[in-house]
Amino acid sequence: MCQRVLDGHRIGLGEALCLYHEADLTSLGALAHEVRLRLHPQPLVTYVVDRNINYTNVCLSGCKFCAFFRAPGQDGGYVLDKETLRQKIQETLDLGGTQILLQGGLHPDLDLSFYEEMLRFMKTEFPGLHIHGFSPPEIVHFSEISGLSIVKVLERLIAAGLDSIPGGGAEILVDRVREQLSPRKCSAQAWLEVMETAHRLGLKTTATMMFGHIETIEERLTHILRIRDLQDRTGGFTAFIPWPFQPRNTAIDVLPASGAEYLRTLAISRILLDNIPNIQASWVTQGPKIAQVALYFGANDFGSTMIEENVVAATGVSHRLSVEEIRRFIEEAGFEARQRLMDYTLVES
Ligand code: SF4
Repeated sequence: MCQRVLDGHRIGLGEALCLYHEADLTSLGALAHEVRLRLHPQPLVTYVVDRNINYTNVCLSGCKFCAFFRAPGQDGGYVLDKETLRQKIQETLDLGGTQILLQGGLHPDLDLSFYEEMLRFMKTEFPGLHIHGFSPPEIVHFSEISGLSIVKVLERLIAAGLDSIPGGGAEILVDRVREQLSPRKCSAQAWLEVMETAHRLGLKTTATMMFGHIETIEERLTHILRIRDLQDRTGGFTAFIPWPFQPRNTAIDVLPASGAEYLRTLAISRILLDNIPNIQASWVTQGPKIAQVALYFGANDFGSTMIEENVVAATGVSHRLSVEEIRRFIEEAGFEARQRLMDYTLVES
């Protein structure tokens, strides 16, 4: 089976399960690294300088794994005003940032014009800014609130300044899991439909996977294969970002995935997703030392500098790195560090 991967053959669910369970960790990592080198022969590892801005934490979804949201009417709920938004963006640009990752809870009272106005404000104030915004559950929520189709919502957001879509809210794209973890959030099919529609409208997006909670390994691999199937049809995903669930402060009582389980999952992702160019290491959840090892388990990207990050931080996991530290961790692992844009174009250094 390993020879089939090395020869460039695609493997399916049965073979992937066998590889996941039976290959020893270092062999699996070496295989993933081979696949990475086939796609990216140059010893480069990229990163993006950006900031997460969570425009609201008010959310009617109440996902069991989320330590970030406040229910409508609960103390501590907020919606950012324009001045705060402006300051956060200016700070990002002052630090060499190129984009904003804009995400929020599913607010029950804000209508589509609020989001259009927010995008227009950001683009008017900061014309060169790349807005990577609104994960599929938010787009589905906007569609429900406005009574408009997904395609119409996306067309309006694009017209207002949306540049690309982050792959959040995917968790595990299997409805048995979603019904238990986040019954009020969109289905697996709806998540995929938003991404397919976005790709057909010309937007690039990423895909994520939050794993290590109630899913089986078969469901985890099924998630990866669903992403691969969609990518075969559209080619719109730039990157895949698997990250382990962080259980503290949430309603799910499991132990966090170990470093070995993270690396095994990362490696199998690289091996299966032969049609997605980039795989990100998650230093935000794993810390920079495991993220360095991840660069030999299939990852070719160190993700974002995360000048601000609130969702993982709400679980008590808080790793912080400056651009200089990110570059040092990449270079000491044996690679050249290069800043990139959302579409993986390299920034001239
Ligand atoms: S994960 Fe997102 S949708 Fe779910 S409760 Fe948290 S903010 Fe809401």
